[in-house]
Amino acid sequence: MYSTDLNKLYCQLAKTCHIQMVVETLPPPGSMLRATAVYKKSEHVAEVVRRCPHHERTPENNDGQPPPSHLIRVEGNLHAVYQQDPNTGRQSVVVPYEQPQLGCEYTTTLYNYMCNSSCMGGMNRRPILTIVTLETQEGVVLGRRCFEVRVCACPGRDRKTEETNFRKIQEAKPSVKITATPKRSLKETPQAAAHLEGSKKAKSGSSTEEEIFHLQVRGRERYEMLKKINDGLELNDLVPPSDAEKYRQRRSSKGGNKRERDGHTMEPKRGKKPLVKGEKSDSD
Ligand SMILES: [Zn+2]
Repeated sequence: MYSTDLNKLYCQLAKTCHIQMVVETLPPPGSMLRATAVYKKSEHVAEVVRRCPHHERTPENNDGQPPPSHLIRVEGNLHAVYQQDPNTGRQSVVVPYEQPQLGCEYTTTLYNYMCNSSCMGGMNRRPILTIVTLETQEGVVLGRRCFEVRVCACPGRDRKTEETNFRKIQEAKPSVKITATPKRSLKETPQAAAHLEGSKKAKSGSSTEEEIFHLQVRGRERYEMLKKINDGLELNDLVPPSDAEKYRQRRSSKGGNKRERDGHTMEPKRGKKPLVKGEKSDSD
């Protein structure tokens, strides 16, 4: 189940999640789709998301090829490759990008999440994001999308509860106008969809917030600086306003604590500046 309001996927352990990818221009041959899980909150984001020791060791769901420590698996794709970054230790699963079937606008990848969000010694109730990147064979990132994931026993119930809470928070502060994600005319999709923008072309008819702009920057230092600002803004989009307020309070109460917001560690790869901005379609 996918919540458009929360940009959040709710699913059960080891169940199939259809994630649909849309690109505006075909990526070069040999391009790949990579899925990486990261912790959503800035205080956990540096930690690698792995399965809990219990699920990693039990024989159940550990009979096949995927390494038992990986949280995210791809189902029904013989070309899936499981990787662990030698520097960061981050685990990801990569599949070759395939063009959509004739008459279809999107490519579907089937993902499984192999632990519950509540698993002790694993996610331990910490919310995670799945980051999907479209990369060239050389690892240059062409597009990136992410969505939050909750793996639980009752996805439907939890989604309803969280959406209700979200709306209550929105209504509680009518003076703060939250820019609602504009409804887009994407096809109705049964599950979450990641929209990967591969070109400079902006979506026609959509709001300017969805437009992607390219900026040429002279000098790495200046580029890094601007990138940091952009990462911060992107991260800000992902954090619910209520959480953002909590961070702010925590920071001011701790006074002088200079923990970084750390937007850049969320990227599974360095390289080209990723194109971002959430785009998703409706669910169920
Ligand atoms: Zn587990």
